Amino acid sequence: MALTENERRILSQLALASPLSKRDITGRGGMGWATAVKLITRLEEQGYVVPYGNERQNQAGKSATVYALSPTKPAALGIDIEYVRARLNVRNLSNECLFESERATPQFATPDDLIEFLDQLLCDAVARVARQGLTLEGAGIGVPSHLFGREGVPYIRIAETLALRSGFPVTVDNNIRCFAACIASQEKMPVSMLVVTIRSGIGVGIVIDGKIYQGERGCSGEIGHFPAVQNGARCRCGKTGCLETVVNRDSLANDLEAARNGNKEAWQRVSDAARMLGKAIASMMLVLDIRRVAVYAELGELGKMLLDPIQQAAEEAVNPGFDFDIRYEALDAEVYVLGAAQLVLDAFLWR
Ligand SMILES: [Zn+2]
Repeated sequence: MALTENERRILSQLALASPLSKRDITGRGGMGWATAVKLITRLEEQGYVVPYGNERQNQAGKSATVYALSPTKPAALGIDIEYVRARLNVRNLSNECLFESERATPQFATPDDLIEFLDQLLCDAVARVARQGLTLEGAGIGVPSHLFGREGVPYIRIAETLALRSGFPVTVDNNIRCFAACIASQEKMPVSMLVVTIRSGIGVGIVIDGKIYQGERGCSGEIGHFPAVQNGARCRCGKTGCLETVVNRDSLANDLEAARNGNKEAWQRVSDAARMLGKAIASMMLVLDIRRVAVYAELGELGKMLLDPIQQAAEEAVNPGFDFDIRYEALDAEVYVLGAAQLVLDAFLWR
């Protein structure tokens, strides 16, 4: 049964601060006492909230029951398919991990191969969490858009097939959009921003007014396939010399290490690659008039060295007076899985 707006408001309050009494919830949620009492009771009956520990004294000197989110309901499965690894996570609304596992990603020749692999992951996860007494409310799955080379990923067909087989809702989306949705939902993030990730390729999540822009066919943000190097290496998309053939974790990691130890040639390669990325970011900023950019790379603290050349190239490329802010953070791969589970958990929250 779908939750009402006010029920979702209560779960959102408890996700931010817990435990809360009925009076706390009335005060924060802008809903009347009678409504809060009725809804808390309903949420408790459905197993979404639980009385939490001891009673405490309220201002009138009376004790009041306090409530917290259930640690086990709703539980959502998040799966992140990367080219090398597939990570799986079961999360609750308190962002606690209830189960996790990881596998090597096999080579997929067709979307049907991917469906079989995902179906197997889902069945395993359902069996595992059932042994912990958990029921999954749904699965969110992040998949790279060039998993099958030139062919796009049929996100909707995959989701529908898996939902039919598993019997619960399944959402499949581009994994960078899962990542960006999770970042954008964090506190104090700008409402419009570009979330750029560097792993085995480059991904960009375009956040406009708090929403992720999907694009006409769900392929927005593909700057990784901007032409960057003449006669460059073959890219997984079928072209040659794409930006992500030079800007990727594997090409950059060794050079960054060598550059830190004073190797000038290595620094030149890093700097050239980062400048190409800076130019591509500048193009997106100008086209979309988005001025806040967060770059996340699976390169740890070393990746901070990319920031200066990215910044310089972007400054050279934008119009005079176009102010912008680009920051760097080490990429935590868990955010992809978290974002994938968030695709399901968002239905229980009110933002
Ligand atoms: Zn490409």
